[in-house]
Amino acid sequence: MTHAAYDRYERQIALPEIGLAGQKKLHAAHIAVIGAGGLGAAALPYLAGAGIGNITVYDHDTVSPHNLHRQTIYQDAQTGQNKAEAAAKYLTALNPDIKVTAITKHFDETTNLPDNLDLILDSSDNFATKSLLNEASLRHHVPLISASVQGFKGQTGIFAGYYENVPCYHCLFPELPENACNCNDAGILGTSAGLTGLYQAHLALGYILGFKNMRAGCILSFDFKALRMQRLELRKNPACPVCKDIDHHEEQPLNESPMPKIMRLEDLQGRDFIVVDVRTQDEINSDPLYTKDNIIYMELGAVRRRFNELPKDKLLAFLCAGNVRSAQAASWMKSMGYDQVCILDRYSL
Ligand SMILES: [Zn+2]
Repeated sequence: MTHAAYDRYERQIALPEIGLAGQKKLHAAHIAVIGAGGLGAAALPYLAGAGIGNITVYDHDTVSPHNLHRQTIYQDAQTGQNKAEAAAKYLTALNPDIKVTAITKHFDETTNLPDNLDLILDSSDNFATKSLLNEASLRHHVPLISASVQGFKGQTGIFAGYYENVPCYHCLFPELPENACNCNDAGILGTSAGLTGLYQAHLALGYILGFKNMRAGCILSFDFKALRMQRLELRKNPACPVCKDIDHHEEQPLNESPMPKIMRLEDLQGRDFIVVDVRTQDEINSDPLYTKDNIIYMELGAVRRRFNELPKDKLLAFLCAGNVRSAQAASWMKSMGYDQVCILDRYSL
């Protein structure tokens, strides 16, 4: 990864659940987003910002003044421009590191999805497109994150009916969902579309990163007026006419990056280890915590820059004031190929 790329994604790489390995997964991913309206316009900037390496946006519609209260990636001066092209321009300006392709043709049964897709985001506003995308998901074995919104109600979920016991979109919505009407016909508050689209992007990132609560079958339902959200885990409808007869596959195991182990000081006895204290000098001065001589002082930021100064042949036990920075440091070292790392439980000292 280049310095510029590292700077761009630093704040999410710092999360032990993401790290460099997670960032590489995001960069390797290709997501097709169908619809750059209220849902897509909210989801797309966060996918691009997070560094999804390849995004294909489909929309044949043009920007209208009545879109702008919820589709805030577009400018008043872009009225009349194609949404897929305007969105692609916005995303490329936001993150020039990624590839964005705009498809301006109406999405119908003749539309091909790109090869090697990792996810389909259904941000469309009509049942016909949703059904086509569900069929494409089943045919190509690509998970579908579908969303719909109207007024103050929204829902989104991850569908993958080609897996045993996992629902397809049709299992749940054999007919047009009550709240999936076209926003042109029924009213909508901009933030309801924005929040639903943002959850759709959140599920997409979580799915690619392998977070265990964001796997196929996870459905979220929102009431933005009552401020209620429900999370459901649903299974396949065994009578679903769309997915019951297709060849089912075993669901892939999750590839969530394992967290480094937390070890107590007494667990380290007899091991060839060295403590790496990642706290600031002021913290160390006011509370040394560990006073033996097998210790290296290196603040968290320095660990990321100078990790290769740390010995590879010893167990590196990272230490901080509350096990958070030490977890980040240990995860970082793991992602850089250091196998012998752990978090030294600060409360065991
Ligand atoms: Zn089904």
